[in-house]
Amino acid sequence: MSFSTFGLSDKIIRAVTECGYTVPTPIQSQAIPAVLAGGDILAGAQTGTGKTAGFTLPILHRLSDTSTKKPSSGRPPVRALILVPTRELAAQVEESVRDYGKYLTLNSMIMIGGVSINPQIARLKNRVDILVATPGRLLDHIQQKTLSLSQVEILVLDEADRMLDMGFIRDIKKILALLPKQRQNLLFSATFSDEIQALADGLLNKPVLIEVARRNAVADKVTHMVHPVDRKRKSDLLAHLIKQHRWSQVLVFTRTKHGANKLAEFLTKNDIPSLAIHGNKSQTARTNALAKFKTGTLQVLVATDIAARGIDISELPHVVNFELPNVAEDYVHRIGRTGRAGSEGDAVSLVCVDEVKLLTGIERLVKRDLPSQVIAGFEPDPSIKAEPIKNGRGSEPRGAKPTRNQPKKPTSKLSKPATKKPTGFAHPTTNRSSAPRRAGGRGR
Ligand code: AMP
Repeated sequence: MSFSTFGLSDKIIRAVTECGYTVPTPIQSQAIPAVLAGGDILAGAQTGTGKTAGFTLPILHRLSDTSTKKPSSGRPPVRALILVPTRELAAQVEESVRDYGKYLTLNSMIMIGGVSINPQIARLKNRVDILVATPGRLLDHIQQKTLSLSQVEILVLDEADRMLDMGFIRDIKKILALLPKQRQNLLFSATFSDEIQALADGLLNKPVLIEVARRNAVADKVTHMVHPVDRKRKSDLLAHLIKQHRWSQVLVFTRTKHGANKLAEFLTKNDIPSLAIHGNKSQTARTNALAKFKTGTLQVLVATDIAARGIDISELPHVVNFELPNVAEDYVHRIGRTGRAGSEGDAVSLVCVDEVKLLTGIERLVKRDLPSQVIAGFEPDPSIKAEPIKNGRGSEPRGAKPTRNQPKKPTSKLSKPATKKPTGFAHPTTNRSSAPRRAGGRGR
């Protein structure tokens, strides 16, 4: 199948071809005709599946189709609204809109927090056909009456599960109330919880269901590896692995902002150029770090989960879980950054005795045991007892507003040391049965 089979305009096909895409991805094959047909869709797709083009291309086509354009007086209205959870994702989506729409006359705008609102107000005085926004700043504009959503024809909720995780549900509901009743709704989510289902039920009208990856599935092209190690030796092991394998582009996840800073400093001191991105960093610092990382001038990017959400780096070869996430689904999101769009990648997890139950929870979710290998010289000390994991959620990025109505994540109850095999990497069945698991979805 090629992109020309969808009936997209020549100008769009030209731009897509220039991006180097020849064959539509599975989500694109399903989403593009469905969106062009004008109905609502509910799509299960992770980052890396090509979902952005899956909704952007048909939106561009629909909006540029002059036969459907309504004559309007006064300032041209915002016609498509794409809501995303993070600033980074907003930047990437808006960039895609510009890339795919470069031969069209449609205008797009990014609207995110962390930067001055005044240039955005000025920009809104000109034509904005497609608005890509994070919920918080969008509502700021609504409050200041600098934005009207009364003529939005198409709404996209991208990474809806993450928006709910970040506590944006009330903001989303406020925004929905400002939209005209007659519109097309496209909802994308990597995972399907009861909450997402409830949101979809209230929002979508007879949606076409599109699911390209199994629920909570991880990309098949990703090689997983667990390296058991003592908690205090993780930094040394990471530096050792990076140097030994000569990894040149590594995305490392930590649980906390403080941990991200400390690790980036440690690696840099060990001649591995690294920067941390998280919500305490200014938007400029985050954007710069990401740009350096993408172009290959920065070897390691250390990120917290929310800061990293939506980072789009094609063919990112290595993702390291310096600490396992508290919530098993975040493992899927994290490694969604590697093995993307057909390329191969590896996901390495440095796991200490405190994290045995988290590992078991992840293995249950991805429905497989992750291979484990002790690195010579970094053998875990069996006398070290498990300690409770400090919950890093309280220190999530401020800029992404994760604290708004922050759902309570299950705290890990790891105070009991694993007795039989202190490192727990033989997966004792006693641990399996008590693995943290969120019943009924995303824990609210
Ligand atoms: P997304 O899931 O939208 O974040 O896209 C993941 C990556 O796949 C991005 O780097 C896109 O540029 C790339 N991509 C999207 N569609 C295609 C395609 N049909 N062929 C090759 N690469 C693609």
